[in-house]
Amino acid sequence: MRSRLVLNFSTELADTPVTFSLVKDFGLSINILKASILPGRGGELLIEVEGSESEISKGIEFLKNKKVSVEGVEKRIKFNDAGCVHCGACTAVCFSEALSIGAPDWLLKFDSSKCVACGLCVKACPLRLFTVSFGG
Ligand code: SF4
Ligand code: SF4
Repeated sequence: MRSRLVLNFSTELADTPVTFSLVKDFGLSINILKASILPGRGGELLIEVEGSESEISKGIEFLKNKKVSVEGVEKRIKFNDAGCVHCGACTAVCFSEALSIGAPDWLLKFDSSKCVACGLCVKACPLRLFTVSFGG
């Protein structure tokens, strides 16, 4: 299975190779999708983790024991879907295909598990229906 996770590091952990440990000690494949970490300071990483459910759970437990906060990327994007008029403007900028629209109903579909928190939909939506938080 694959999961997209946001890891939040405190200042003390910024130089600790925790993602390396996820690969070496838990057999997980890691793809870093986005990073916002300053040297000597804390920050955030968005990673895609691939492995069995049990391996991923153990990896998350390891991170939490290291005091790294972990949450699914879907917690970082808020979408006010009740206000959507299905114009499709946001789908043009969403390269991860989290946002899509098409036949037969031409209604916007949002799969938050595919989101990479890029924030491009925030300005693309004329009604400003998205809020994305990452790194700041
Ligand atoms: S933040 Fe980026 S990846 Fe996520 S839904 Fe918006 S445009 Fe798509
Ligand atoms: S741009 Fe805004 S109003 Fe248009 S489909 Fe996307 S979320 Fe809905």
